[in-house]
Amino acid sequence: MIIYDLICEHSHRFEGWFKSATDFTAQKSEGMLSCPMCSSRNVTKLPTASRINLKRDDSKAPDHVMADVSSTLIEKIQDYVDSHYDDVGKDFPEEARKIYYGETSARNIRGTASVDEVQALNEEGIPALPIPGAPIDKTKLN
Ligand SMILES: [Zn+2]
Repeated sequence: MIIYDLICEHSHRFEGWFKSATDFTAQKSEGMLSCPMCSSRNVTKLPTASRINLKRDDSKAPDHVMADVSSTLIEKIQDYVDSHYDDVGKDFPEEARKIYYGETSARNIRGTASVDEVQALNEEGIPALPIPGAPIDKTKLN
């Protein structure tokens, strides 16, 4: 959906909603455009103020909007983990086992582990999850 700022011959400014730039041209050439204030059909588009309305277009959300949403979500997860979990780094599998078997105080931890290590932990019944979006370390865990 495109919104154009339109102006009639009497300098009345108003908004026109169009499916596309072509739709605007078609409506104008068919005389379907008229000023809501004076009904003049001598309407032109103001070149500087046209814009695309993302919110009203529910047929297909633009890809970059989806990307914005998911990167924000990932940042929130990372912030939460950063502030609520002890970073034990590469000791993660060892620490996870100690906590699980009661050898150290129970707490939330995060750190790094390989896919195999995570699988081994899960097989022992120790919950470990990879967190999405870590830029370098793809096996970051909580
Ligand atoms: Zn007018």
